[in-house]
Amino acid sequence: MSQHDQDIEDVIIVGSGPAGYTAALYTSRADLKPLVIEGFLWGGLLQQTTEVENYPGFRDGIMGPALMSELRAQSERFGTRFITDEATRVELARDGGLHRVWVGGRELRARSVILAMGAEPRKLGVPGEQELAARGVSYCATCDAAFFRDKPTLIVGGGDSAMEEAIFLSKFASEVKLVHRRDEFRASQIMIDRARGIENIEFLTPYLVDRFEEDGGGSLSRAVLRSPNGSGDGSGDLLDLEVVGAFIAVGHQPNSALVEGQVETDEDGYVLTEGKSTRTNREGVFAAGDLVDHTYRQAVTAAGTGCQAALDAERYLRDAPTSIEGHWVSHDEVDAATAGAGAEAAA
Ligand SMILES: Cc1cc2nc3c(=O)[nH]c(=O)nc-3n(C[C@H](O)[C@H](O)[C@H](O)COP(=O)(O)OP(=O)(O)OC[C@H]3O[C@@H](n4cnc5c(N)ncnc54)[C@H](O)[C@@H]3O)c2cc1C
Repeated sequence: MSQHDQDIEDVIIVGSGPAGYTAALYTSRADLKPLVIEGFLWGGLLQQTTEVENYPGFRDGIMGPALMSELRAQSERFGTRFITDEATRVELARDGGLHRVWVGGRELRARSVILAMGAEPRKLGVPGEQELAARGVSYCATCDAAFFRDKPTLIVGGGDSAMEEAIFLSKFASEVKLVHRRDEFRASQIMIDRARGIENIEFLTPYLVDRFEEDGGGSLSRAVLRSPNGSGDGSGDLLDLEVVGAFIAVGHQPNSALVEGQVETDEDGYVLTEGKSTRTNREGVFAAGDLVDHTYRQAVTAAGTGCQAALDAERYLRDAPTSIEGHWVSHDEVDAATAGAGAEAAA
């Protein structure tokens, strides 16, 4: 192996949620010595939550940050290396060539890249939201509805996801106020009708959330709503609701800006993959987790596709020529690199 080869990673994984760390676990156990660029805030969305009760294997549940530490340590045990910083730029090769990834000024090269940067739930940006996150304010009813059995709750949003979350939440909560800023909804009529047909779901429109307030013990106890059609001076426009759970369902933003224009995405920015695989339209580039997933957005589904991406990458590397001269870069580039190394050695 030349000096040139040694600088080339087999797999770089960008992102460190359940998808990235599971991809790291599988690729490290396959002896590919993955390099994970895990971001400054490593561990992904589960770092922002408390109890996780639906990740298989933990009968009594596990705290989100503890789960992510375990996943990270498990992949480290088999030789995964980490850079705890952001990938700031990528240049993905077109025809099976080497991919380049930058962390600030540091350039890394890899035969394959797994993209696992996740998707960020959109925030309302109102007072109390950030402070009460995981203390009553949540972004995932599938994940957290069961914590609000027989409790008053609200959902904010007007799309199909908001309707779905409201319907799911209504099975647990005593009441679900569905708050939307307009009288019209983006959701499909069938979903609106289903939600309207459920006894403990009440539609409140048009209302905006003005702020969330706590109970003195650090948990959510009240949501203050504001009418967008109010008089403007605030008098009489506010509506106080006693709620202990507030679910924000105003969409997600996939973290795909890094690869914008280089891999295919849909109109919402989710990375597109081929069929049931994790292959993107760039050879040797795979994508997993919430970055590709509009629908399920769960830790276990992200981990599942992380595993798939690792297996896809492993097979890609197995079937592609191992000699860089044979496949990865042009002869001219190899000659230039060899000459460069010779000049360095002579200096
Ligand atoms: C409040 C909350 C509670 C939840 N509770 C549950 C639950 O109980 N059970 C459950 O199954 N699911 C739960 N979920 C959903 C679950 O967290 C996600 O489905 C899952 O984390 C997605 O995993 P991922 O690996 O695709 O992405 P993420 O977990 O989002 O991780 C992506 C990571 O990549 C990093 N990254 C992004 N860009 C870069 C870059 N350029 N360079 C380096 N790193 C980068 C991000 O910082 C992040 O750390 C919850 C979500 C939220 C928001």
